Amino acid sequence: MAATANPHKLKEIAAILGSAVELLSRPVDLGEVVEDGDTLEANARLKADAVCGHAGQPAVADDTGLEVAALGGAPGVRSARYAGEHANDADNRARLLDELEGAADRSARFRTVAVVVFPDGRELLAEGMMSGVIAAAPRGDGGFGYDPVFVPDGGDGRTFAEMSPDEKNAISHRGRAFRSLAAQLGL
Ligand code: IMP
Repeated sequence: MAATANPHKLKEIAAILGSAVELLSRPVDLGEVVEDGDTLEANARLKADAVCGHAGQPAVADDTGLEVAALGGAPGVRSARYAGEHANDADNRARLLDELEGAADRSARFRTVAVVVFPDGRELLAEGMMSGVIAAAPRGDGGFGYDPVFVPDGGDGRTFAEMSPDEKNAISHRGRAFRSLAAQLGL
């Protein structure tokens, strides 16, 4: 059971974990889980706990933040609400580009914490990071969230949104976190 209703995320996680796991979307009758933790780890655990408690099945969740050096690590755990409580992805990207206007240092990293919670209370946790730079303007139609403005290090200058899903998953924060989780699960 996955503690996400975000279809982009679910698709990425299912592709990373492969066919060894049957991943079901978050139960619709559970509603929104309030992500009011102070850390990515706390929020991932909140989501996985809520779904596991509701469904009585093992649940997996991740929480991801974009940490920008010139902004002292912001937006970080507040990445989803960076441009306000009801901000959408485009609003958040626009605020980020505004904040970085004229900045010499555009380095940033994505950090994902992934958690599996079992009905008996056991939990497994993994972290994945990918560093890169924030582009001058959005590019590409793939991915979601901040992907159009994130150029991963070690690549050819394309943003995550200009890569195929497989290319992104091979190097992404979420790919790294979930492959580590899969290894801990013996998959
Ligand atoms: P959450 O992990 O769903 O809480 O996501 C936090 C924020 O980061 C949201 O604004 C997402 O759109 C964004 N985000 C999460 N994962 C990614 C990613 O892989 N690429 C780009 N943005 C992401």
